[in-house]
Amino acid sequence: MSNLMKKKSSINGIGVFTDRFIQKDSVFYEVPMGIVHTAPRPKWAHIGENRWVCDEKVLNYINHSCSSNTVLDISGIPKLIAKRNIYPGEEITVNYNETEAHQCKINCTCASLNCNGFFFIQHASSMLFLGDSYTEGTGVRYDKTYPYLLSKKLGTVSMDVLAKHGWSSTDLINNLREIEHKNYDYTYLLIGVNDFCDSIPNQDILKNMGLLYESIKRLSKQIVILTIPDFTRAPNAIKYGDLELNQTNLTDLNVRITSTFSQKCAIIDIFSVTKTLTQNDFYTKDGIHPSEKQYELWVDRILEEV
Ligand SMILES: [Zn+2]
Repeated sequence: MSNLMKKKSSINGIGVFTDRFIQKDSVFYEVPMGIVHTAPRPKWAHIGENRWVCDEKVLNYINHSCSSNTVLDISGIPKLIAKRNIYPGEEITVNYNETEAHQCKINCTCASLNCNGFFFIQHASSMLFLGDSYTEGTGVRYDKTYPYLLSKKLGTVSMDVLAKHGWSSTDLINNLREIEHKNYDYTYLLIGVNDFCDSIPNQDILKNMGLLYESIKRLSKQIVILTIPDFTRAPNAIKYGDLELNQTNLTDLNVRITSTFSQKCAIIDIFSVTKTLTQNDFYTKDGIHPSEKQYELWVDRILEEV
């Protein structure tokens, strides 16, 4: 691997180059397999259905060429195989059309004689965000809410938000028809705090979340559930009742959400992110809803998991 290095490419940005001779048909790089991600991001390589790998050392930087010198073999552990002899100083290139999901058409700049003029890449997905004021972003500019911040980081192609201040899980169920004929790669669900504040029993909240899960499954390839933030840390949380009692009950609800759904879909633990957030600047002016600064922490946590 020491024969590969990154440097400025005439094709696009930074590319990967070899400083040694690579024999035709030889395997010259095996991709280190850490976490296999189920959502694409810019630069990550597609290595099979709903599977992407992040390899900052080499793979993320390999450019496309219509007359590539290398194949990315994804039949087992992804590896690079030379299609022809490659000489010192040459840029390593692969044909993205052979492995990438065919979603976005990109103009090709490979400059080879048989350039197709374009190639395909999937660097983005469609996302749906379901919830209440936490998802709508009460008191925060639209482009500073967690759905927007996350979509931007993930290079999302399209996003829909179905969320309103004050919505309970029942309100959300009653409004699902708005999106029932649509399809999404990912759906993020964060609901239950209004049920909780209305003293709806935990088992009823979980039952509604189960109904939501079944409905979402029909229109979304993957589902991500966020646990309910610890609103008892907010400056004005006392308005909603005894802080300690609320925190205990909310902990219980989040534990049950996690145990009910963790075998079925990804769970992001927003509760633990927010448990220590007492400073005013983590909240909007109303002293209860998350500020942009808090949403950034949420997005960091989500990106650790997805
Ligand atoms: Zn080309």
